Amino acid sequence: MSRIVAIVGRPNVGKSTFFNRLTESRKAIVDNLSGVTRDRHYGKVEWIGQEFSVIDTGGYVHGSDDVFEAAIRDQVITAMEEADVILFMVDVTTGITDLDDKMANLLRKNKKPLLLICNKVDHNDRLAETHEFYKFGLGELWPISSQTGSGTGDLLDEIVRLLPPEPVKDENEEEVKLPRFTIIGRPNVGKSTFLNALTGAERSIVTPIAGTTRDTIDTHYNLFNKEFILVDTAGIRKKAKVHEDIEFYSVMRSIRAIESSDVCFMIIDASEGLQAQDLSILNLAEKNKKGLVILVNKWDLVEKDNSTMEDFKKRILERIAPFVDVPIIFMSALEKQRIFKAIEDGLEVYDNLKKQIKTHLLNDVMLKVIENYPPPATKGKYIRIKYVTQVKTKNPTFLFFCNLPQYIKEPYKRFIENKLRENFRFTGVPLTIFFREK
Ligand code: GDP
Ligand code: GDP
Repeated sequence: MSRIVAIVGRPNVGKSTFFNRLTESRKAIVDNLSGVTRDRHYGKVEWIGQEFSVIDTGGYVHGSDDVFEAAIRDQVITAMEEADVILFMVDVTTGITDLDDKMANLLRKNKKPLLLICNKVDHNDRLAETHEFYKFGLGELWPISSQTGSGTGDLLDEIVRLLPPEPVKDENEEEVKLPRFTIIGRPNVGKSTFLNALTGAERSIVTPIAGTTRDTIDTHYNLFNKEFILVDTAGIRKKAKVHEDIEFYSVMRSIRAIESSDVCFMIIDASEGLQAQDLSILNLAEKNKKGLVILVNKWDLVEKDNSTMEDFKKRILERIAPFVDVPIIFMSALEKQRIFKAIEDGLEVYDNLKKQIKTHLLNDVMLKVIENYPPPATKGKYIRIKYVTQVKTKNPTFLFFCNLPQYIKEPYKRFIENKLRENFRFTGVPLTIFFREK
């Protein structure tokens, strides 16, 4: 968990092509799962049994040319602060440009492991042209072609080698395990106010304990007789030095906290409604298969009538579909209204996340459901689902065994997911569903 690789580089060097190549083998699996929205900028990579997150920093740059340079500069700086390994990508077909030079100057101050990647080396005769990039003084050069994939295997080996080791699980951890919550959201939605409301609340015991991952602070709470750990990144408390109103920062600074928690409290600002940036952050939680509670904060500012809350809820659900089985709480962190309800729902989502359905019960219920509404025959072949089991993993994962898994289509998967939710209650939790041949 929590190992981040950032790709930096000016536009058109091939960052997103490379990103897609890294994430696509996994995407093939992930896209088959229910409730996963695609994100072009943030993904998970698995290589020789090692997992890490990769972020295409360029994917977050919007706007005209003049804001471009400043934005890229800020992104490089943030990447240097937040990532574990930095990939600086350049383009052999253009050689060194002005912007490459500026980025290289920034990156020379970097203390993290960095790899200089020369992209678009589609054939060996381009190798000679890569040499000019040694001028940067950024060490060894990795020639690759994101298009053909050449060189990417060696590069991945090296990335994995440079990553910090995966945290070793304590054997006793499961027994003493407390729910780990984190608060996420755009700047100014009220994250610190919510945190302070919790900290200032009656009888809350605050014990700072060592964060399980670098850069996070874990605080053990005993609040309203409930025990939990709040994972905080430095980013939540301390305002960033640079403009924090850029989507990229919220995302970059949320990754670590999200990855090391069980349930995310996603705060949105009621006076502004759900924004595109909110969806990017939400996507991080979903992609990491974390529990989710949506907190619509600053509800005190909204002029209300009978249907305001329902309308608001409906609009959120439309935007976050298909993962709509999520608690949504309307609160005011400032007036300390419904903050208890938030924690209560967080604990319930945690229970759902850890829920293990007995195999016989699961089969009793789901095989009946399937019998009444079997998957449609495809190419004249009947699909028989014979058996289902919940895999023992960190988050609810179901394995359905059948004769022809490749013929099970998305709508049927969704149907199965809905039935699992109806019968076993998994509110706030993304479900993973696989069909396997047997
Ligand atoms: P980004 O702006 O850095 O994300 O760059 P893109 O991934 O969008 O790529 C910019 C252009 O370079 C696109 O037309 C790609 O098809 C092309 N491109 C990317 N990687 C390669 C490569 O390895 N070889 C060649 N020949 N073209 C590439
Ligand atoms: P953060 O950047 O997400 O940590 O946001 P802050 O907690 O710093 O809050 C940003 C601003 O919104 C501050 O001026 C807060 O006083 C205000 N704020 C936070 N929660 C509420 C709320 O529930 N109601 C109102 N009216 N203002 C709030």
